Amino acid sequence: MGLVVQKYGGSSVADAEGIKRVAKRIVEAKKNGNQVVAVVSAMGDSTDELIDLAEQVSPIPAGRELDMLLTAGERISMALLAMAIKNLGHEAQSFTGSQAGVITDSVHNKARIIDVTPGRIRTSVDEGNVAIVAGFQGVSQDSKDITTLGRGGSDTTAVALAAALDADVCEIYTDVDGVFTADPRVVKKARKIDWISFEDMLELAANGSKVLLHRCVEYARRYNIPIHVRSSFSGLQGTWVSNEPPVSKQGDQQVEHAIISGVAHDVSEAKVTVVGVPDKPGEAAAIFRAIADAEINIDMVVQNVSAAATSLTDISFTLPKAEGRKATTALEKIKASVGYESLRYDDQIGKISLVGAGMKSNPGVTAQFFEALSDAGVNIELISTSEIRISVITREDDVVAGLRAVHTSFGLDSESDEAVVYGGTGR
Ligand code: ASP
Ligand code: MG
Repeated sequence: MGLVVQKYGGSSVADAEGIKRVAKRIVEAKKNGNQVVAVVSAMGDSTDELIDLAEQVSPIPAGRELDMLLTAGERISMALLAMAIKNLGHEAQSFTGSQAGVITDSVHNKARIIDVTPGRIRTSVDEGNVAIVAGFQGVSQDSKDITTLGRGGSDTTAVALAAALDADVCEIYTDVDGVFTADPRVVKKARKIDWISFEDMLELAANGSKVLLHRCVEYARRYNIPIHVRSSFSGLQGTWVSNEPPVSKQGDQQVEHAIISGVAHDVSEAKVTVVGVPDKPGEAAAIFRAIADAEINIDMVVQNVSAAATSLTDISFTLPKAEGRKATTALEKIKASVGYESLRYDDQIGKISLVGAGMKSNPGVTAQFFEALSDAGVNIELISTSEIRISVITREDDVVAGLRAVHTSFGLDSESDEAVVYGGTGR
């Protein structure tokens, strides 16, 4: 008998019908001889609705109270799902994150899991119940207050529980059939990936792919928990995310490593350019110290060669749009001491990233990537690379055309339109 942790996202439990469908799926897994722990998100877009509501009563809601409010969303789903399972004649018990032993630090709205003590969950499944756990929430070790793990955090709850319970697999049920070679909402010809390494998945997640959260994949890699991403609507085989390709049932032929795993895109970032920075030691340090002290995470950084005549250089970096104002305010304050000329802020940018461990050993990938963009008439503003990724910044309006061109150029298009989006808005 195996232990399976299943996670159902908001679109899978969006309404009573959805909850009943999920209950049936869980009962199936149980009948197949598994112990089942199910982690649920809040119904549909209800987390967004709760945030909207909070902002109507206070422009900057208190973190502690916002967490109290938002965790209610997952509690609604977990209780309804337990009822639906009982209605099918099977035993189920629901648990809040705190009851399930999800212990976090005390940073409200983006807490980190520091320990999982799933004693009550273990007992519940050993007694023959399906244990239903509210995702995205925990309890602070120090303050004992309720915390949330940041948007989309239910995936992390599922993987953390799977690790703590030593589960055989963590199944993440979502509104698409798995991880695709590009966002199927944008690229209709995107192909479902059968298997992808943790490494490549981390790069996709870090560069805009929304199907799995970066933190969740990081956790899964650290504890070596294979993830199976699939749809609760179709029940098809989805995408396996793990260290090594799985061995197929037919023979011991492993799934082939693809050279390119996929193309990710991101339009949530903005670009800041510090213009006319004196080309001498300590200037970049001062700029990025100011950004770090404002607790802003940056992504790409580019410094130009200084103009010979002036000995001045430009430094550009990208960051989440939401942090744009904080960043420019922080930089204005050091304008005199750094002695730069001006600041430019541009939020009409987008990022396209090509990801695949195979590019390490295949020359020409970079050239082909740039050629595809150039053939599509897309201008490149910044470039950054890692061993297994190439990213460019373009105009936001060019992202979709660029993404499709690169996808086609690397032979990732599927013949059929298999990329079905079953529900949800992808937000
Ligand atoms: N309900 C939370 C959110 O929408 C957590 C999750 O869905 O994973 O962000
Ligand atoms: Mg959600």
